[in-house]
Amino acid sequence: MKVCKFGGSSLADAAQLNKVIDIVLADPARRIVVVSAPGKRNSGDTKVTDLLIALAESALRGENAETSLSAVVERYAVMARELKLGDEIVARIDGDLRARLAQKDSLSAAEFTDLMKAAGEDNNAKLVAVAFEARGKKARYANPRDTGMILKGDFGDATLDPESYARLSRAFSNFEGIVVYPGFFGYTREGKVATFPRGGSDITGSILAAAVCADVYENFTDVDSVYPCDPRIVEEVKNGEGIPTMTYREMRELAYAGFGVFNDDAVIPAVKARIPINIRNTNHPSAPGTMIQQSRRVVPGTVVGIASADGFCNIVVEKYLMNRQIGFGRRLLQVLEDAGISYEHMPSGVDSQCVVVKEHFLPKEREHKIIAAIKSELSPDFVTVERDLTMLMVVGEGMCYTPGMLAKACLALASVGISMSMVNQGSSEVSFMIAIRSQDRDRAVRALYKAFFGSAT
Ligand code: ASP
Repeated sequence: MKVCKFGGSSLADAAQLNKVIDIVLADPARRIVVVSAPGKRNSGDTKVTDLLIALAESALRGENAETSLSAVVERYAVMARELKLGDEIVARIDGDLRARLAQKDSLSAAEFTDLMKAAGEDNNAKLVAVAFEARGKKARYANPRDTGMILKGDFGDATLDPESYARLSRAFSNFEGIVVYPGFFGYTREGKVATFPRGGSDITGSILAAAVCADVYENFTDVDSVYPCDPRIVEEVKNGEGIPTMTYREMRELAYAGFGVFNDDAVIPAVKARIPINIRNTNHPSAPGTMIQQSRRVVPGTVVGIASADGFCNIVVEKYLMNRQIGFGRRLLQVLEDAGISYEHMPSGVDSQCVVVKEHFLPKEREHKIIAAIKSELSPDFVTVERDLTMLMVVGEGMCYTPGMLAKACLALASVGISMSMVNQGSSEVSFMIAIRSQDRDRAVRALYKAFFGSAT
C-alpha cells in the first residue's frame, strides 16, 4: 500500500485536482490520499490556509466575518462547479465554517485559530472524496478524530501523541476503496482541534505511512525531483539531472543547511519506520522523482548535493594553554545554556574554541552580555563574535573512504578566491561543512557545483 500526500499547489483548482485523481487511479496501491488545503493558483493568489487565518483574526477582533467567509467558500465552490460536483458539498463546507465560527466564544484565541486553520484541509478532503466518487471510484473521507490522530503540545505547533500509532494502525487495518485524509491537524485528548506547524500536511502523511507500514510514502509536489543545489543560485541545475536516490542521512544533512526538500520534523515518523519517501511531481507523474531511503548504491567519490545556509555567527574564544584547562568547553557551553542559546558546531584549535550559533540567538544588543559572561566565567585572552557567516554543506555517502573530496572543495573555492573561515567534518563522513563569509555564498556554491557536478568531472 502507498500513502500519497498532495500539497496545496496540487489541489489549487479543478484542473490540478483532476491530475491528482488520475495519479491515484493509475496505481491501485495508492489507497490513502492525504490532502493539503487548496494552495495558490498563481503568484498573486492567497492560500486557503492564509484566508482562514485572516478570517479567524477578523472574527477574534469582533468584525463581521461574512466577506472573508465567502472568499473561502468560493475557493471550493469554483472547484465544485468546474468538476460538476453539485451544490451539496458547497453547502456542507459553508455550514462547517459557520459552525466553527460559532465556537469562537467558547475557545481560547489559540484554540479557535487552530479550529479555523484546520478547516482548509478538512473541507478539502471532503471535496476530494466527492470528486473521486464523481469519477466513479469508491472513496471516503476519514476524520482524524475517528481514526485516532491524537496530538499534544501547543496549539499551532502540536506534535503527535505516540499512542496514536496503534489507534491509526487499527483504524486502517481493513478498509475498502480509497481513503481521503485531511493533513495538518488532529485532536487533543480533550477533543479540541490542534494543528501541526505550517506545512504540517507532510507530517500527517509521514505519520500515516508509518502507522500502516506503507511500502512507500509518495509526496507529490511541483518539482520533478530534488535538485543537487539551489536552482536560484545555480540556474543550470534545472537542465541537469535531479537526485534519483538519497539516504535519510543525506536528506537530513541537506535539510539542515536549508534544502527545502522537506521539513525535518515531517520525515521523522517515516524515517523511524524505515518507509521510503518518494518526492514526485503532480504535473509530471511519469517522472520517477527522488527516492529517499535507508541506504542506496553509492558510487565512491560522488556527492549528492551542495547546500548553503546563511545567518550564522561564530563566538571565538582564545586562551593560552586552554587545552590543559579541564572543563573549559563545558563552562563555555554553560554560559550559552544559561542564556537559552543552542549551538550548531564547535570547531576547536589548540588554544581556541569556536562555537557556531544561529545569528537570531545572538542579536547585536545581546552580544555584549554574552561576551561579558564568557569573560567573567573563563577569563579568556581574547573573545569576539564573527558575523555574517554562511555554512556550505557538501553531502554524500560516496565521500566516505574517498581521499581528496575535501581537497576538491578547497581547490574549487581557492580558484575563485574565496577564503574559508572554518571546516568541519563529522566522523560519519557523510558531509563536510565549510564556513565562509555570506557575501561569497553564491560564487562559492557555483564553484562547488562545477567541481562536483560539472562535465569535466
Ligand atoms: N495548509 C497548511 C499550510 O499552508 C498545511 C500544509 O499545506 O501542509 O501551512
